[in-house]
Amino acid sequence: MTVRLNSIRLNLAIALGLALLAIPLAFGPPPLVVLPLVLLVVALIRALVMHTSRRTRLINLLGPVSRAAAGETHVHLPAGADDEAGHVAAAVNALLDKVRQQALAAHAERDLDLALVRETPNGLLVTDAQGLVRRANPALARLLPVRGDPVGRRPIDSIPVADFQEVIDEARETRGVCERTLTQGRFDLLIRAMPTADGAGCLGVVLDITSIRAAERARRDFVANVSHEIRTPITAIVGYVEALEADRERIPEDLQFMLDVVRRNADRLRLLIDDVLHLSTLESRQTDLELRRESVGPVVQAVIERFEGVARQKGLQLIGPAVAPEAMINADGLEHALSNLVDNAVKYTQAGSVRVEVAEQPGGVTIAVVDTGVGIDATHHGRIFERFYRLDSGRARSAGGTGLGLALVKHLCSAMHAQVHLESEPGVGSRFTLSLPA
Ligand code: ADP
Repeated sequence: MTVRLNSIRLNLAIALGLALLAIPLAFGPPPLVVLPLVLLVVALIRALVMHTSRRTRLINLLGPVSRAAAGETHVHLPAGADDEAGHVAAAVNALLDKVRQQALAAHAERDLDLALVRETPNGLLVTDAQGLVRRANPALARLLPVRGDPVGRRPIDSIPVADFQEVIDEARETRGVCERTLTQGRFDLLIRAMPTADGAGCLGVVLDITSIRAAERARRDFVANVSHEIRTPITAIVGYVEALEADRERIPEDLQFMLDVVRRNADRLRLLIDDVLHLSTLESRQTDLELRRESVGPVVQAVIERFEGVARQKGLQLIGPAVAPEAMINADGLEHALSNLVDNAVKYTQAGSVRVEVAEQPGGVTIAVVDTGVGIDATHHGRIFERFYRLDSGRARSAGGTGLGLALVKHLCSAMHAQVHLESEPGVGSRFTLSLPA
């Protein structure tokens, strides 16, 4: 339409120019007057023609640009001319090339993401804000029984595994990461659910931990078997050492110290084997320790009596609690954990006291073992409950420790739904607190 208007205007301009030229010709003026007039009209017409053709070329670009805007991908504007239209076309072509490259890169990224989701051995599932499945990957159906297409349904409607639905629901409600392990057919699985990045839905991840579990079992069995095998000769050694000790006066004095060394080391080895066996038994338990609601008094008292002698020998005060409330405990488990804590407190305290404090809290009962010993620097607090983690292995060994005491305490606590917490300052002392359910 605009192009036609332009050509009409051009024709009018030419007609006007010719009319101007015709007037002097018709009335016959001298030729000298006609020539500049003709030149002026010609220049005018030329300028008009050029202007109109530039506009036309610019207007002609509109078509391809509109097609590109509508989503056509292979649009290319004619950009040969060295004028406004040519420059605009070149700039638009460069822009379109850039957009095309970015779109290709985005496509490649998305293809990569899709390939990862498709090929990963971990099951993946995403739910929307209503808790309905938006997408699930193929691995999910390999690890869990998936009946039909889960998309658009609640997970439980196509995956009849109650634990899976529960973990997803829990993550939705708590807006946090929730985990659960379960055995499904021949697989040991770890299910982890968390809110999606936009916060509306939920992402469920199913990890196959069968081989990890098998390796853990093999390691535990190996440790337990080796420990059992070592225990028998140790028992024999200790037995003979005890027999020799009973006949000590028949042993030459310069050899008696050797007997003491053998005895000390055999005892240490026996303690270590016992701790290793205990730890591996605790680790291999599928169920928690059986809890009963009873007073913590007798357990605390038994532990205090056991360490009174050693504490006295070191000149330490061993102080018991004033109260004995009831809590959900496994008496053997609690006694073992508390013994390790009091044993450590006595071992790592040179002067002052070791105090066992019991207190009733709103959610349960706490038992704290407080000492005035060497203390533990804050840098070690995060790792102190790991197996064989020691601050000063020389001192710990000479104190007779196995390096497994606190690891055992931690395991015993988790088997009793209890928690252990450490506060300590070097040179001041330590406080290990057990928090027991009421
Ligand atoms: P160990 O048998 O060596 O005592 P534990 O696991 O019981 O092993 O303790 C680990 C380390 O923690 C110890 O070697 C010791 O360095 C430190 N520790 C434990 N309890 C105390 C305490 N009450 N005071 C100071 N250090 C402690």
